[in-house]
Amino acid sequence: MTTTIIGFPRVGAHRELKFATEKFFRGEITADELRATGAELRADQWKLIKDAGIDQIPSGDFSFYDQTLDAAALFGLAPKRYRDLGLDSLETYFAQARGYQGNKGDVKALPMKKWFNTNYHYIEPEIEPSETIALTGTAPFDQYLEAKEIGIDTRPVIVGPFTLFQLAKKEDGVDEEAVLDQLAAAYGEFLERATEVGASWVQLDEPSLVVDLTDDDLARFTRLYEALLAHKGGLKVLVQTYFGDVRDSYTTLTSLPIDGIGLDFVEGRRSLELLREYGFPEDKVLYAGLVNGKNIWRNDFACTQELLSSIRGVTENVVLTTSCSLLHVPYTVAAETDLDPAYVAHLAFAVEKLGELVALSEGATDNGLGNRADVTNKAVQNRVAGIADSDYTRSPARDERDAIQRREFNLPPLPTTTIGSFPQTSDVKANRKAYKRGDITAEEYTEFNRKKIAECVAWQDKTGLDVIVHGEYERNDMVEYFGQHLDGFLFTRNGWVQSYGTRCVKPPLVWGDVSRPEAITVDWSSYAQSLTDKPVKGMLTGPVTILNWSFPREDITIKESILQIALAIRDEVLDLEKAGIRIIQVDEAALREKLPLRRSDWFSEYLDFAIPAFRLVHSGVAAETQIHTHMCYSQFTDILPAIDALDADVITFEASRSDLEILDALVECNFRTNIGPGVYDIHSPRVPSTTEIVAQIKRIAEKIDIAKLWVNPDCGLKTRGEKETRKSLENLVAAAQTAREELI
Ligand code: GLN
Ligand code: ZN
Repeated sequence: MTTTIIGFPRVGAHRELKFATEKFFRGEITADELRATGAELRADQWKLIKDAGIDQIPSGDFSFYDQTLDAAALFGLAPKRYRDLGLDSLETYFAQARGYQGNKGDVKALPMKKWFNTNYHYIEPEIEPSETIALTGTAPFDQYLEAKEIGIDTRPVIVGPFTLFQLAKKEDGVDEEAVLDQLAAAYGEFLERATEVGASWVQLDEPSLVVDLTDDDLARFTRLYEALLAHKGGLKVLVQTYFGDVRDSYTTLTSLPIDGIGLDFVEGRRSLELLREYGFPEDKVLYAGLVNGKNIWRNDFACTQELLSSIRGVTENVVLTTSCSLLHVPYTVAAETDLDPAYVAHLAFAVEKLGELVALSEGATDNGLGNRADVTNKAVQNRVAGIADSDYTRSPARDERDAIQRREFNLPPLPTTTIGSFPQTSDVKANRKAYKRGDITAEEYTEFNRKKIAECVAWQDKTGLDVIVHGEYERNDMVEYFGQHLDGFLFTRNGWVQSYGTRCVKPPLVWGDVSRPEAITVDWSSYAQSLTDKPVKGMLTGPVTILNWSFPREDITIKESILQIALAIRDEVLDLEKAGIRIIQVDEAALREKLPLRRSDWFSEYLDFAIPAFRLVHSGVAAETQIHTHMCYSQFTDILPAIDALDADVITFEASRSDLEILDALVECNFRTNIGPGVYDIHSPRVPSTTEIVAQIKRIAEKIDIAKLWVNPDCGLKTRGEKETRKSLENLVAAAQTAREELI
C-alpha cells in the first residue's frame, strides 16, 4: 500500500531553523544565509523521508514562521501598513509575524491564534477592502524544483483557500464575494503554475472543514473549489483535512472533481461511519490518516489494521498517511539517550512514525509491545475516587470574597502587576545549564536564583508595580517545571515541538498516576515575599494546562489525569497560603487547547470536568487569599461563562493583539471575575509608549467597570530582553498612574 505524510517538523533535528532565524533577527546572519539554512534543512528532510521508505513526499510544509502566513504571502495578502514600510519581501513577512520597530516605521504584529486544537499558533491573515489577491510568490514552486534537483518528486502543499478565507480577519468594507472570486482565481493560478513546474499532485490543507459548518460556509467552500478546479487540467488535487471528521462536508467533497480526499481516522470519530454511510467514489483516492500525528505513543498495529480493513471494505483506493502533520510531535526518539529503554520502547516521534507507516503498509499487525510498567499509584486513585462534590466549590461566594480582599490588600484602583516570568537572560539559562551538568552545586544554583529574585523584586518595588512576582527564574518552562517536581511524568532531552515562529516547547509525557512528593514553589515565593511589604503573587500552573501542554497517556481518561494533577496543585496552593503568600496565580494558559472543535462536544467531553478541576485547586483557601488565573490568546470569547465559572478572583489575558474584541463579549455575558486585559503585546520586542498604554486603558475602561480592572502585560515576559521589558513596564506603571488621575 502506498504511504505518505501530511507534513513534517520543519525546525530540524536540532532546531537548526529556530537558531538560524533568531540569528537573522539579531542581525548576526544575512537573509541569504538564513535561506541557505532553510534549503539545507529541506533537502535533509526530503531525503530522510524518502530513505524511510515513504512513497509520496510533500514539499512546502517548510516555513520560516507559519504556513498560514506563507499562504497569505504567496497570494500577496500583506496589509498596507506592512507593505508601506518598504521592506523586502522576507522582512515584510517577518514584520507581520513579529511587528516592526525601526527606521522605516513602527507597526504591531498581526494577531496570533491557536491552530485548531493544537498548541501551534498561526498568524491571522488580514484582508483589507479592495485588496488584490493574486499569485505573487514562488516559494512552493521553487521548493518543488529544489527537491526535483535532488531526484525527489514531491507534492507541493499549501493551506487551502477555504481555510485561508475562514481564518482570515476580514476588515470592514471587504466585499466577501469579490474576495472569494479572487481567491479561487489565485488558487487556480497556483494549480496552473504547479503543473508547469512538473508537479503531478498538489495538496490543499483544509482543516477548517472539520469544525461546525453553516450552509453559508459550505456554499463558500463549493464556490471556491468549483472555480479553482476549472484550472486543474491534468494535475491531481488532494484536499487534506485533519483534527476531526468532515461530517458537514463529506458529500460535498465526494461530489467535487478532486482526486484525493484526506480524512483523519484518529480524531475524526465519524470518518469511518461517513465512508460506510455514503460510500467513497471509485475515481478518487482516500488518504487515510491512521498514524496519530499528535501523540508520541507507538501505534497499536493490530487496532490500526482492523480499522484499515474496515476502510478497505469501502474502498481499495487507499493511501496510508498520518492523522495530521507531524509538525505537532518531536523529531526523533533516537535523541532520547537519557530515557530508560523500557520507556523509549513505547514512543514514536516524527521519524519513528514514518517507520510505522511503512510497517503498516507492509501488513504488520504486532508492534511487539507489552504492558507499560509502573503506571499505577493506588493512593492517588483512591484520592480521586474520594473527591466530594463540595470540594469543587469555594466559599464564601465571589462578591463576599471580593469585599474582604479589597479591605485586605487596599490596592490602588487599576492595580498593576505582571503575568509572572521576567526575562530569562543568558545568565539565568547558563546557571540552570551549569547546575544540570553538575558544574555547580544545588546551593550555588539556588543562591544565583535568589540573587535574581532579589534584584527583580527590588526593581518592581522601585518601579511601582503593586503586586509583585518573583520572576520564575527557576523555571525553564511553566509545565515542564511542575512535571519535574511531580511523580508520574517523563521528560525528553530533545522532544521539541514548534509552538509559534521560532518558539518551541518540550512537553513532558504523562506516563503514570500523578502525585506531588513535596512542596514545589514555596521556598522561592516566600523568599520573594520576605523582601517586600507589597504582596508577592505565588505562581503555579493549573491542572488543565499541565495536562494540555503534556503528551497525555491514553490508558486512562483525560478527566482522570486532570483530576490527579488538580489534587497535586491543590496541595501546593494550600502550602503557599500556609507560608504567607496571599495572592496565588494558577495559570490556565492552555485551557482552550483541548476544547473540542465542535460545539456539541464542548461540555460533555471537556468543560464539564476541566472547569471543576480548576475549582478543586483553589476551593480550600481562605476568603482573604486572592486567586488569580491567566489565559493566553484570547480565543475564549465563546466560552466566557465557563471561564467565569472557574471562580477565580482575577483573570489576566491577552487582548492587545486582538484589538480588544473580547471586551464586548465580556460586557455581553455580564462577566463577574475581575479582569486584567493585557495592555501591550509581549510576543514582540516592541516597546509600547506611555501614551499608547494610556489610550489602551481608556479604551478598556469605556467598556469595563474601572473598579474591576487590573493593568498588566498580556503574557509572561520570559522570552523578552531585559531592556525592552524594563522600559515597557516603566511605561505601564506611568500609564496606570495617568489613567488613575484622568479617569478617577
Ligand atoms: N506565569 C507564566 C509566565 O509568566 C505564564 C505564561 C503563559 O501564559 N504562557 O511565564
Ligand atoms: Zn499567557
